[in-house]
Amino acid sequence: ESQLNSNYSFDNFLEGDSNRLARSAGLAVANKPGGTSFNPLLIFGGVGLGKTHLAHAIGVEIKELHPEKTILYISAEVFTQQYVDSVRKKTRHDFIYFYQLIDVLIVDDIQFLSGKSGTQDVFFHIFNYLHQNGKQVILTSDKAPVDMQDIEQRLLSRFKWGLSAEIQHPDFDTRVKIVKSILFRDGVEMPEEIIEYVAKNVKSNVRELEGAIISLIAQSSFNKREVTLDLAKHVVEKFVKNVKREISIDYIQKVVSDYFQMDIETLCSKTRKRHIVQARQLAMFFAKKYTKSSLASIGSQIGDRDHATVLHACKTIDNLLETDKQFKKYYEDINKKFSL
Ligand code: ADP
Ligand code: MG
Repeated sequence: ESQLNSNYSFDNFLEGDSNRLARSAGLAVANKPGGTSFNPLLIFGGVGLGKTHLAHAIGVEIKELHPEKTILYISAEVFTQQYVDSVRKKTRHDFIYFYQLIDVLIVDDIQFLSGKSGTQDVFFHIFNYLHQNGKQVILTSDKAPVDMQDIEQRLLSRFKWGLSAEIQHPDFDTRVKIVKSILFRDGVEMPEEIIEYVAKNVKSNVRELEGAIISLIAQSSFNKREVTLDLAKHVVEKFVKNVKREISIDYIQKVVSDYFQMDIETLCSKTRKRHIVQARQLAMFFAKKYTKSSLASIGSQIGDRDHATVLHACKTIDNLLETDKQFKKYYEDINKKFSL
């Protein structure tokens, strides 16, 4: 049994800038498993961005094009369990032998192997065997090889032999395409305005995007509610912690001055009173952290200072955060208000 999920195909894996490289490499591998330099093919990227989908799609495509090949999809977690069982039952050799017979091995979420040296060791041997015999290995991970922790160096270096292709966050156009394809699949129509609203606001990953649109579809078809922008907002809010508002310098000044119980005029004034200076410097620091404004523009908006003053403020705050516990506490309290 290949354990492949045929619901995941290339046809329903929509292409966008965010996944083009991984998708094309996957297709190339599917056409010539073991016969490209993409061996292993490592697909990495954050949660819900399509790694598992693409991994299955590659397997499903290979099954279609090369029915004689033995394909196995397995998560690293199940692989680990199987290995541990085999050690307990003293069937470690059978376990290894089983894997050596596979033509295309797909291991999902290999970050799961981190810290598990026994499993890494056995995987290393299986990998080498397959690779030397021209078999194809496809891996997914939530991190790039350089960022993987507690994975043996020799294994990491194998991961880098082939191609590491990242799946990034989908851009707006891709998100619109994905929403439309779900609507099409379910035979539901929705105003363009709603589609764009959802695609604009649910951007953290594809899984959440699907969740939001499916719950809108459910509202409209089961509750027979008309899908208005208000309903869409209501649903989206359940999926996105905060429909992100832009953090403006005005807003930062307000939050910081409120926190220290002073008004914005005081925050911006020329006074040298230490607690006021520090509040102002902190506002500058947050402005640098959360806005795209230049130092000069931050300075001119917060008390009409120049860019050197802002730079100095940021260094001072960096220092205070390292040396002053009480100040760090203030900082963290305020920071929460921005990152909610
Ligand atoms: P990951 O393994 O990276 O966490 P998944 O492969 O499980 O993510 O994808 C999450 C959901 O998003 C799945 O339902 C998948 O079908 C869908 N999905 C992800 N990327 C795409 C895409 N490019 N086109 C269509 N659906 C996608
Ligand atoms: Mg996955």
